[in-house]
Amino acid sequence: MISLLRRLRRAFAPEPVHLDDAEWSRVVARVPWAAALDPARRERLRALVGRFLRDKAIVPAGDFAIDAHQAHVLAALCCLPVLEFGYGGLAGWSELILYPDTFRAHRSHFDEHTGVLTEGEEELAGEAWDRGPVILSWGDIEADLAEPDAGFNVAAHEIAHKLDVLDGVMDGTPPLPRDWQRKWARDFQAAYDALCEDLDHEREPAIDAYAASAPEEFFAVCTEYHFSAPQVLADAMPAVAAHLERFYGPSPFRSRAA
Ligand SMILES: [Zn+2]
Repeated sequence: MISLLRRLRRAFAPEPVHLDDAEWSRVVARVPWAAALDPARRERLRALVGRFLRDKAIVPAGDFAIDAHQAHVLAALCCLPVLEFGYGGLAGWSELILYPDTFRAHRSHFDEHTGVLTEGEEELAGEAWDRGPVILSWGDIEADLAEPDAGFNVAAHEIAHKLDVLDGVMDGTPPLPRDWQRKWARDFQAAYDALCEDLDHEREPAIDAYAASAPEEFFAVCTEYHFSAPQVLADAMPAVAAHLERFYGPSPFRSRAA
């Protein structure tokens, strides 16, 4: 009976999309974080990517068009943050809307000579609320891929928001076992307060000042550092870095020098 059910389920459930070895190698070569994973985690990423491509619609905005390889790269970027959490971390949404150009303008600049902090426009991509789509721009993705250790990873940022909201509230805390959640909230709050304090006193922030705009942005920006510049995060906020290492697994860039 069980095997009959299983056979029926298999007959009706579409299989994950299979990327052949040559295409998977191209994806890995294009995504530095995937290339830096150990072989076991890279294989897990490949399996997640197949399910992502089966379940999520990647919708280019307007007359923008992307090819299959670009879709595979996007899938790999979106699946990286759920390597430890599992595929359930991508639940609750079904569309990735892709704009052609860079619209992420919140990369702030702190001038240490004048003490002036320049902030860009509000983050237009930060609408990853509830059941809405994930919105990314290919321009941002390309910028991240070109400079993977610069502290930015916009795809990880948006997926962090989606993980955050899985428990129904976007507050900088994803669903966690109760004990861990308490420690997470305490350590994140302390680091967030310290960052706000630095900015209030016109001290150069250790991470992108955009993180100070709200607790959920703090979590999302720290997520970017976890993947892109883990040493910066570990030096500045060791407790936060340790939580993220447990939540996301070791950063693919962990062994790199800062
Ligand atoms: Zn955000």
